[in-house]
Amino acid sequence: MSKFLTSHWWATFFVLFFPLAVMYGYADFIRESELNARVGWLLMIGGFAYLFRHSILQKFFLAILIAFVISGALDILYAVTFGGVFMSASLEALVYTDSKEGFEFALAYIGLENTLLLSVYLVLSYVALRQVVFQSAASRTQKTLVVLGVLMLVFALQQFDQRGRFFEVVPGFAGVAMDFPKNRQSLEEVIAERKKRYETADFSATKAIEDPQTYVIVIGESLNRNHMSLYGYDRETTPNLDKLATESIVFKDAVTAYAQTRPSLSVSLTSVSHAQLNEAQTALSLMEIFKKAGFKTWWISNQQPLRYPTSAIAAIADQSHFISHDFHGVEAYRYDGYMTPYIEKAMEDTAKHKVIFVHMMGSHLHYRSKYPADQFEVFTDDKGIQAYTDKLSKSQISDINAYDNSVLYSDSLLRGWINKLRQSQGISGLLFFADHGEEVFDSKNFKGHGPDGVTRHMLEIPLIFWRNQSYQDTFSNVDKTVYEQRNQSVMLDDLFHLTLCLTQVGSSLYDANRALCTPNYQPKQRIIYGKPYEDYLK
Ligand SMILES: [Zn+2]
Repeated sequence: MSKFLTSHWWATFFVLFFPLAVMYGYADFIRESELNARVGWLLMIGGFAYLFRHSILQKFFLAILIAFVISGALDILYAVTFGGVFMSASLEALVYTDSKEGFEFALAYIGLENTLLLSVYLVLSYVALRQVVFQSAASRTQKTLVVLGVLMLVFALQQFDQRGRFFEVVPGFAGVAMDFPKNRQSLEEVIAERKKRYETADFSATKAIEDPQTYVIVIGESLNRNHMSLYGYDRETTPNLDKLATESIVFKDAVTAYAQTRPSLSVSLTSVSHAQLNEAQTALSLMEIFKKAGFKTWWISNQQPLRYPTSAIAAIADQSHFISHDFHGVEAYRYDGYMTPYIEKAMEDTAKHKVIFVHMMGSHLHYRSKYPADQFEVFTDDKGIQAYTDKLSKSQISDINAYDNSVLYSDSLLRGWINKLRQSQGISGLLFFADHGEEVFDSKNFKGHGPDGVTRHMLEIPLIFWRNQSYQDTFSNVDKTVYEQRNQSVMLDDLFHLTLCLTQVGSSLYDANRALCTPNYQPKQRIIYGKPYEDYLK
């Protein structure tokens, strides 16, 4: 036993896996790559250590492990204190903290549990690293381990080369921190370019009328409309939207162009079509149009601050707020309802013309942490579930229930925001859509979304426009046309044009043929990942 405790294997194993064990105990959701990357590094460092007879190489071994100790210490602190794992948003939140705040922050979060676990980790790591006795590979097993270590290095380099980021190759804080400067710099360039383009681009944007107007554009997340009672789901997951249906236009046949956030929002919020995805980064967005037309603009988000294309679009807004910063970047249990005070404040702003973008976390994995369980743990058995099989496992049922509860929570938030909007002066409207849907064991044994194995549940999204009486009276022609056309097929890459039409903002970038609310609207064949949408219906 003592031989094992002085081996380089024990030291490496302890340094890498103690933080992971703490994360499993405290954090609500851990990426699979955390475990895989740590196993990979264990094999790599462990295998190579047999070749480290020279003292300089031994120092190199120690340096790598000390780096992992520092990274592991931060993982432990973060997991115990905030119940989450380090993400780029956590670092972003830290960067926004100045040193005085940082100190107060540290004081506020020092506790018995985090201090104790951190001390155990540091002391045992110190002991393990001091005692390491280096051996050269003598037995056949040890020689095999050396080869395995070399293979792991090749694999890690190949993974890094393929993905261009450390995130999945280096575990914990270290991986996130290594990617951070590059991400941040390239994002800052994109933001600067978008700001410059707003100043210099030749485009027009004008309001139809000068009456007071407030529009709220809510972007949902991973919301499959087949899980909404508003769209016929057996479970009453959207009781509030169901009631508001008589005051809303519910579009029956909207699909996303992509089952991923980034490409979907790149084409829905800008003027380009899905075939021009590559041009989206340089295309003008709804934000620039509204701003130029004289609206005061907001971007309020519960999503990560360091993301394309939303960060750059948010940077154009007169005011933007990522509530992630208020929560030290922790994603779990950071409910969308925490945006409500910011949204209400924007609605109460004295500006006469306002457009407020709201970006929800909605029903993203991990579903259970997206709604307050004390009020919204409503679906708990298997009643009303429609799934790919009759023989769902307990954990599948539990995931579906959590997903449906998250939908119920979003529904109640939307009601609150709409009720607040009713109090606004003049014309008001709220447009709600989701960036894409979600497969929740609906048509196959899978939960999530993405470009591989796409199903219709990842594509079919809600699209709803609530508007007040003043809107209906003032824009009666548009209102009538769009109501009549609500069953027409539409794809989210035309949302830009639909939104301009609904808000009656004129622009040189506007294309009436792509706007569902004009008589000219021409439904197009919806090609998604190179296949017609109809192919996904099977
Ligand atoms: Zn998404």
